[in-house]
Amino acid sequence: MKEGIHPEYVSAQVTCACGNTFVTRAAVPEIRVEICSNCHPFFTGRQKIVDTERRVERFRQRYERYQKQEKARQETSKSKSAR
Ligand SMILES: [Zn+2]
Repeated sequence: MKEGIHPEYVSAQVTCACGNTFVTRAAVPEIRVEICSNCHPFFTGRQKIVDTERRVERFRQRYERYQKQEKARQETSKSKSAR
């Protein structure tokens, strides 16, 4: 190996967004990832939505609001017909 051109190969602590950490070897001492073998659906076998841009969360909030409106509408129409 030519000297002075290769980065130092060190132990690297990998930290995942799910809280899992493990040690590997890399040219940098610390790596942060969003998904790892501990939480990826391929390995867990469970269905999981990877909500990278919070689109799923926003849809859920909108849908919840819609359900509440719909419920309120049904209740008002019920009270009208009771009269
Ligand atoms: Zn993970």
